[in-house]
Amino acid sequence: MVTEVISKKKGIVKKENHFFNSLTFDEVGDDHLYTGLETPMKPTAFDISDDEKQEKIAALFSQIMDVMGLDLTDDSLQGTPKRVAKMYIEEIFSGLNPANKPKVALFDNKYKYNQMLVEKNITFYSNCEHHFVPIIGKAHVAYISSGKVIGLSKLNRIVEYYAKRPQVQERLTNQIAEELKSILETENVAVIIDAKHLCVSSRGVKDDTSSTVTSYFGGVFNTSEKIAELQNTLNY
Ligand SMILES: [Zn+2]
Repeated sequence: MVTEVISKKKGIVKKENHFFNSLTFDEVGDDHLYTGLETPMKPTAFDISDDEKQEKIAALFSQIMDVMGLDLTDDSLQGTPKRVAKMYIEEIFSGLNPANKPKVALFDNKYKYNQMLVEKNITFYSNCEHHFVPIIGKAHVAYISSGKVIGLSKLNRIVEYYAKRPQVQERLTNQIAEELKSILETENVAVIIDAKHLCVSSRGVKDDTSSTVTSYFGGVFNTSEKIAELQNTLNY
């Protein structure tokens, strides 16, 4: 399945040996390579309900804890498998389920505001899909109205929805941008994300000072003039 998704998006996978750009899947994960816009999901992803998923995850997570040698009869650990399962489905990975996508109402641009609107410093919490540890960052999103405007809090909700998936930062950036373009019916959308990856800071190379910046500049935002204007706005 993973191979299929990669080959569909990039067309550069040697299907027979499961390599991506001649790297093994282990190497893809450690280098956090990005393989496509869509979150790779099985066609059967929603054949079972969220409640059933929680039950299965709780049972499997207790097995992981048991294999690690933890005593699941201890009062402190007993509730952990259920707690983790509930947190996965209802909170930190709730963005995998399209049923949780924010409902967005659009309004007419009655004020005829025709400059860029920037919602900056949207804090989000995501998780790296290669290590399942947190990505913590800020997103800045901007658009120029094509005649419709969106409630400001919906911009935060859209960021949150796509963040609540196992992610890589490039995909998160592009998924937010594509969603905004589709809702607002305009190419004039920009997304900048600056985030810390705990898999880089708390393990592996253990670099606590670096952060990763990704950006999407669509339509008129993809000009040096607009990029400079956006950067100016972000520096206020
Ligand atoms: Zn990672």
